[in-house]
Amino acid sequence: MGLPSTSQSAELGADLLAGVELGGTKIVCLLGTGPDDIRASVRVDVREPSATLAEAASFFRSALAEGLVPRAVGIGSFGPVDLTVGNPAWGHITTTPKPGWSGVDVVGPFTDVLGVPAAFDTDVNAAALAEGRWGAARGLANFVYLTIGTGIGGGAVAGGRVVHGLGHPEMGHIAVPRVAGDSFPGRCPFHGDCLEGMASGPAVADRFGRGAETLTGADLARAVDLVSRYLAAGLRSITAVLAPQRFVLGGGLMSMPRVVEATALHTARELRDYPGVAAHQAAGFVVAAGLGGMAGPAGTLVLAEQALVEQALAERALAERALAERALARG
Ligand SMILES: [Zn+2]
Repeated sequence: MGLPSTSQSAELGADLLAGVELGGTKIVCLLGTGPDDIRASVRVDVREPSATLAEAASFFRSALAEGLVPRAVGIGSFGPVDLTVGNPAWGHITTTPKPGWSGVDVVGPFTDVLGVPAAFDTDVNAAALAEGRWGAARGLANFVYLTIGTGIGGGAVAGGRVVHGLGHPEMGHIAVPRVAGDSFPGRCPFHGDCLEGMASGPAVADRFGRGAETLTGADLARAVDLVSRYLAAGLRSITAVLAPQRFVLGGGLMSMPRVVEATALHTARELRDYPGVAAHQAAGFVVAAGLGGMAGPAGTLVLAEQALVEQALAERALAERALAERALARG
């Protein structure tokens, strides 16, 4: 595997962290402190769960043997997943159409090997955290990251934390009004013409009979127009609910030429008359993601760091309780 030695790129004061990004087709495991300081990483093709997870976990076993010892691990997974801490199903995939993966524990295989605190979230939320730390939303406490590719997923950061609730947001499945004259039925298996059904990569491929990356000329212009109009309708609704400071757009479909600019333009139009916030018309409101494919893996390191913080808080609470109890006992 060729792991480098710990002394090679040590960064003073930064904890070595472990991350695992589980995507639909590959798992990325890494050790480092941030996107510019990855000490070791591996990609594993996703097959059936037990063999895939065992192969991924063995990367960390080798790393430990070579002296790369992380203090915490962050795991970002494709969903849907159970994020409720304390639930028996926390850290598990819930019901996925992906054969064999429903109900699979995607945290246990890694904590069993590493024996360190773990944080778990969706791959999209991990990517959102990374864009906030190092990418296109750096320094913002309230923003929304959307990935537009095979599906459409969104992560909302509010007050510096990703928004969870019952499960996690499913921003790709919001309802969007039809662009006038568009008769495409949509391809979401659940809703037909929701945002994902109208503006994801597969929707474009269905509409034009070939993938977005192969489109040229009038077809490409039409695809960019439709995707940007549907996204703008979605961004308007999300703005009405969350009032983000910025939208960061990533994912494969955003590599179509000028699609981010077109989405920014249509979004500004959607919001112009109301609520009338000047920043909605500014260049920085809708921007392209800054980290590309590195967002998800880097975000798992932010999750790992959060696991460390949670552990420190829990230890402090315990210590304070012990002190209080001793004081009570002394009367
Ligand atoms: Zn849907």
